[in-house]
Amino acid sequence: IIGGTAYLAYGVYEQKHPDDQFEPDPTKKNLVILGTGWGAVSLLKKLDTENYNVIVISPRNYFLFTPLLPSCTTGTVEHRSIMEPIRSILRHKKAAVKYYEAEATKIDPERKVVAIDDNSDIKGASNKTEVSYDMLVVSVGAENATFGIPGVREHSCFLKEIGDAQQIRKKIMDCVETATFKDQTPEEVERLLHMVVVGGGPTGVEFAGELQDFFDQDIKKWVPEISDKFKVTLIEALPNVLPMFSKQLIDYTESTFKEEKITIMTKTAVKKVTDKTVEAEYTGPDGKKTMQVMPYGLLVWATGNAVRPVVRDLMSQIPAQKDSRRGLAVNEYLVVQGTKDIWATGDCAVAGYAPTAQVASQEGAFLARLFNTMAKSEAIEQQIHDLSSSLNLQPGNTAEIAKEIETHERQLRRIKDIKPFHYTHQGSLAYIGSERAVADVSWLNGNFATGGGLTYLFWRSAYLSMCFSTRNRVLVVLDWLKSKAFGRDVSR
Ligand code: NAD
Repeated sequence: IIGGTAYLAYGVYEQKHPDDQFEPDPTKKNLVILGTGWGAVSLLKKLDTENYNVIVISPRNYFLFTPLLPSCTTGTVEHRSIMEPIRSILRHKKAAVKYYEAEATKIDPERKVVAIDDNSDIKGASNKTEVSYDMLVVSVGAENATFGIPGVREHSCFLKEIGDAQQIRKKIMDCVETATFKDQTPEEVERLLHMVVVGGGPTGVEFAGELQDFFDQDIKKWVPEISDKFKVTLIEALPNVLPMFSKQLIDYTESTFKEEKITIMTKTAVKKVTDKTVEAEYTGPDGKKTMQVMPYGLLVWATGNAVRPVVRDLMSQIPAQKDSRRGLAVNEYLVVQGTKDIWATGDCAVAGYAPTAQVASQEGAFLARLFNTMAKSEAIEQQIHDLSSSLNLQPGNTAEIAKEIETHERQLRRIKDIKPFHYTHQGSLAYIGSERAVADVSWLNGNFATGGGLTYLFWRSAYLSMCFSTRNRVLVVLDWLKSKAFGRDVSR
């Protein structure tokens, strides 16, 4: 069966070779897409690339299936299994798409150009240049929020990119091997084997669960002398973890963690990090605050998103963005407020939804439909552009603007083919360790909240079906089988 599946995957993989990269057609508009994450890739998947000169710019030349990133930190899944090269995604498009591996360093909405820097590792090969656009989609995501807390950037590991997962995987084993080194003091052993996770959102919870699994199922077998010393602590500032899940699932997660011997510290906010300690403030039921200093070996920081510098810079150039804090405020067509020809999707856009992969992917698909329809009908395109510019009038006379917006909304509704973006929440899923998961799923007009072993199988099959390609799916299944049969690889 495996041989057959591999052959099938190989067939799918081999079926198309990339066309030459295009020479821009002067009769078509330049559509520049920044990013290769959920928003950008879902747009590219459905976009009819024959209608535009499409240029993709991203420092990461692959799409990363982020829901399985916590599994990479322990080797349950290998990192290459959840990466899909952007070149392989683009070769399936009808018309060739240009790709530049570079970081967008500045967007100039006046001159309609994006400054890019390829940050090449090849000595003397680094290039800085500009790319001009007629239409721009900003899908650059977000960076890790540190809230300016001292020591976080210098001493903790984040969990956003493949490099972060690889760093964590090495660090776990470094702590284990160093703790078992000759003549270590008991205090140092305890410190090295204390794994601290800050942030009780899904990233922190999934990572804590995976880490405890790694210890219980593998490390303990190979390094039995540390059995009673390895400890995972999850620190959360709010009164409970996973605030987006129902009360029942929060309780289930907390009791599962208790069984797994993961310590949860809620109402505890980290205030300072040093190379060996975390300083956190606990707020008691009477409101009394106490400081605690915890030595750690590994510190993983998962406290959510912050705006990237290139996005912050763009916001500072657009007066209509002055009140937006969390990213580029967009209208219901995902047009960046205060602009006519810039759209934003995913974690860098503020559209009124949580910054999740599900939202970004639906936004990307929406933009693809929008751009396809725009290209098909010149008349509709003209209408949309006019409407977007009127909708993005700078703040001033609010009553007049509100009235105008209302008129435009009525007009928009009349354009049957392009309805405003509407997000359909399909539910939330999270792995919580020891082969259990929690799921809040909207299905058949009902909401289902479940947790446990069966939910874990559902979690696995849902994530598998969401993987980008057949190749990814086959590799992930093989990784699961491999880690089950032989245990996770504990080499550094
Ligand atoms: P998050 O924003 O969901 O959670 C971060 C948590 O860190 C918050 O609960 C916050 O109270 C806490 N925090 C902040 N500062 C702190 C401090 N100094 N000390 C202690 N705690 C502190 O972040 P995330 O988990 O990275 O998720 C980001 C987004 O991605 C969310 O929208 C989330 O829903 C989504 N996501 C979803 C899944 C899933 O559905 N399985 C997985 C990963 C991420």
